Amino acid sequence: MNELRKDYILDRYVIVAAARATRPDQFKREEESKHSDICYFCPGNEHLTPAEIGRLQDNNGWYVRWFENKFAAVKQEGSFELKLGDNFFLSGTAFGKHEVIVESPQHNDELSYLSESHIMEILKVYSHRIEELAKMPGIRYVQVFKNHLHDAGTSLVHTHSQVVAYNLIPASLQQKLNAISRHSSCPHCKIIEIESRSARTAFLGKNFVAFCPFASRFLYEVWVVPKRHVRRMSEFNDDELLDLASMLKLILVKLKQLNAPYNLVINYSPNGTDMHFHIEVMPRLATWAGFELGTETTINPVAPEHAAEFYRS
Ligand SMILES: [Zn+2]
Ligand SMILES: [Zn+2]
Repeated sequence: MNELRKDYILDRYVIVAAARATRPDQFKREEESKHSDICYFCPGNEHLTPAEIGRLQDNNGWYVRWFENKFAAVKQEGSFELKLGDNFFLSGTAFGKHEVIVESPQHNDELSYLSESHIMEILKVYSHRIEELAKMPGIRYVQVFKNHLHDAGTSLVHTHSQVVAYNLIPASLQQKLNAISRHSSCPHCKIIEIESRSARTAFLGKNFVAFCPFASRFLYEVWVVPKRHVRRMSEFNDDELLDLASMLKLILVKLKQLNAPYNLVINYSPNGTDMHFHIEVMPRLATWAGFELGTETTINPVAPEHAAEFYRS
């Protein structure tokens, strides 16, 4: 029998096809070609990107580089205020800053190929961009995310992440904050206590736990959560960041076995709020269809308990 499961704190449901025996192999994709005639993110083509904002470099040149997105979704123009017209028409300028972080100079690299210390440096850039952009007047949230491969929404194959700082608390985050406020203490602190010794544990580190959430919406979905109640990335010390980097690497190396497209999303507490920091990795091995769009209930053919087994294997 399939099981209907609710998210830990949100009013969000999933149908888990728990009875179906699935082998990860059956979801394996062909490796996508990384060929591109001209790559704007490769060394030598720096002049083809918008002006650089920052870079990390060693004797061989830059190894992480960030700049404004040429096709920015939001821009530092106009007013950041939203206005309500005639009851139904709330709108304003899509105000903010949209940046790209190129994670490696090597065109064929993937995040999972990079060393743990290199991934840690990328995480530090994430944190740095969040803190810097959050200070901009009118910015209410800085969303850091990564789209890996075509089905996860990327058209540029050279490995990169994106940062969108804009004039809104995302609705998904607001729902989480509302749900958390109905608990007397941090629900995530309790959730990790349970999920670090459940059938859904993927990896257990010194400072972090990776687990496949009880009501996973995506096949092989996995969350990485610090054991310590941390609100923002900037609160982590180097030891913790390295632990986080190595856990992400373990996850991405496993997803590489399936050539899985994925979205990786950073969730932190904006100022004045208190949410336990977490990273969601959402593999995109299935397409949402009419049922998902009509009901916001997802059908997941891989039980999170089986997904966790795949990560541990
Ligand atoms: Zn390239
Ligand atoms: Zn907590």
